[in-house]
Amino acid sequence: MVNLQVKEIAVIGGGTMGHGIAEVAAINGFKVHLNDLTLDILQRALNNIRWSLSNLHGKGQLRESPDEVMSRISVTTSLEDAVRNADFIIEAVFEDFNVKSSIFKRASEHAPPHAILASNTSSIPISELASVTNRPDKVIGMHFFNPPVLMKLIEVVRGDKTSDETVNVTVELGRRLGKEPVVVNKDVPGFISNRLFMRLIESACLMVMGNEASIDAVDSAARFKLGLPMGIFELVDFVGIDVVNLILKAMVNRGFKFSGCGLIDDKVKALKLGLKTGEGFYKYPEAGKYSRVKVPKEAGEGVNPVRLIALAVNEAAWLIRNKVASVVDVDTVTKLGFGFPKGLLEYADSYGIGSVIVELIKLRDRYGTVEPDPLIMQMVSEGRVGVKAGSGFYDYGGEGYETVKLTIEPPIAWITLNRPEKLNAINSKMINELIAVINKLGAEPFDRVRVVVIKGAGKAFSAGADLTMFSNEEPTEAYLTSRMLQELTNKLERLNKPVIAMIHGYALGGGLELALACDMRIASEDAILGLPEVTLGLIPGSGGVKRLVRLIGLGKAKELILTGAKLTAKEAEELGIVNRVVPINELENETRTIALKLAEEPPITLMIAKGILNIASEGSLEDTLTAESMGFSLLFSTKDSREGINAFLEKRQPKYQGK
Ligand code: NAD
Repeated sequence: MVNLQVKEIAVIGGGTMGHGIAEVAAINGFKVHLNDLTLDILQRALNNIRWSLSNLHGKGQLRESPDEVMSRISVTTSLEDAVRNADFIIEAVFEDFNVKSSIFKRASEHAPPHAILASNTSSIPISELASVTNRPDKVIGMHFFNPPVLMKLIEVVRGDKTSDETVNVTVELGRRLGKEPVVVNKDVPGFISNRLFMRLIESACLMVMGNEASIDAVDSAARFKLGLPMGIFELVDFVGIDVVNLILKAMVNRGFKFSGCGLIDDKVKALKLGLKTGEGFYKYPEAGKYSRVKVPKEAGEGVNPVRLIALAVNEAAWLIRNKVASVVDVDTVTKLGFGFPKGLLEYADSYGIGSVIVELIKLRDRYGTVEPDPLIMQMVSEGRVGVKAGSGFYDYGGEGYETVKLTIEPPIAWITLNRPEKLNAINSKMINELIAVINKLGAEPFDRVRVVVIKGAGKAFSAGADLTMFSNEEPTEAYLTSRMLQELTNKLERLNKPVIAMIHGYALGGGLELALACDMRIASEDAILGLPEVTLGLIPGSGGVKRLVRLIGLGKAKELILTGAKLTAKEAEELGIVNRVVPINELENETRTIALKLAEEPPITLMIAKGILNIASEGSLEDTLTAESMGFSLLFSTKDSREGINAFLEKRQPKYQGK
């Protein structure tokens, strides 16, 4: 429950980050007050914003004209004027405590009492900035990534006194800015991203300084073995060696234990700061001109990729054990912040936690680095050693599933239809495995699973039932197959947790019938949906006829089934078959956002509401009214309903436990 509706945003500092943040805010409809020291600097910021908006417009990525977006941005050299009407203030000035704290103090004196004060700092403690203001509960970190227009990630950093309401408003704002916010639950030096980044640098540096590998070899292994978009040293060059050095020093001053990296110190002394000066660990055509660094693939042959990530995985374990971040948060940061093709902990699970520990012990014995974290030691002692064991940082649903994949990232369970080579056509094995997975999820406690998402691997959700399944079937066997499919869709519809179908590519025939049994359908713009069975001389046989009639009415359902028409996602949305259509690159984020919102609601209430909605779509008014009264009275006996009512009266965020 978010009470504050942010409409006006003040951005303090119009440099590299500030102008980008102002641009993102204006693109997303907010009125922006941009403040910097001089009008010249502000004019430069406006020029940069206009240039970037024109680029986006040229690529068709802007709904409005650049002028319309620019009309929402006003500039001022007066901090007081900038914050006077702002609901939310984002500070992005130099990384200097004195400059920032004086801004926080003045801003808190002149901003409206409800306004939230956020800092984009990379290394200054949020709690210390909060302490100079008159509203420490409304001070928070909002750490954008460079460039803010393109980078999806925001770290939302909770200071000692930051209230839940402030965190919620900031997360909500981040989403309205089109970003994926990750909450950093404690104000630890380097938050999540820089702690992990520094550990990657530490491993890389130790290997080079210990003569185990060359810079090329390390970067080659990072690129070609881990599949990262850049090598580690290449990335340091890109960010700026001086910038990395400053952040690292600030973190070390706040107690972050680091082995030191002479390579970085040497480059800083030599003023070879990376791309920006034309030379760092690599040479560039000229200062600031990027050209892809050439790293030979063979160079990394002798480098063990597990050694490269071991210290970062250990750091992630520390963050998780200390409740700073969750497994999913760590992987979101590595995917969206560093461009990893998969999350750090997904790598750890696929290489195996045992191998990570072996490398940590070797690093400790050779270089005196930290001990393996108790969390990963415990995982090994419990046999949770990764993908092969069916469980590691993630749950892979145990062994044995061939056609589906189950990944539990509390509070969401992701079921992936996993026959990508057959466009996830549903065969008997998949029906049985899906039934087993749904049974398992029904038994999962609410503190682990609150929402289920079904999606398809590869190019489609599901192209339908696997027709080879029917080629030799007698009518009685086809009858039984149809009954099994109906059992599957019934189980989905009756599952005690909300189920979302995340649809991309084809959702045809049995594939769409599966989706129709879910509680919500979110589709990407490229999705094609339909029940084309008649064109094969068949009819839908997995409960789709009834469910489609219920959803869109008899007339439209007849048209769709009798013509076998295939609909675009937009047409399906207009008919009411899908709830929402989003661009393909936003499908997973959007689905996760909706799932997480559902997961915040009291799970027993959702379970009962879902049951009554199912009755409402089938039964008489009298049946539904009786069910409603029974559900209503039953819910009064839950701890969650008391919590909901109390939280409402006390104006705080409810915490539902599913009890
Ligand atoms: P920058 O040097 O490009 O811009 C800072 C701006 O702040 C300048 O325009 C400066 O004139 C202005 N400024 C200084 N004092 C001011 C004051 N008293 N009032 C108003 N404006 C003032 O710096 P940047 O790279 O944009 O970094 C800004 C913040 O963002 C820092 O805290 C940095 O740690 C953080 N950050 C930077 C990056 C990055 O990649 N550059 C990424 C994430 C976070």
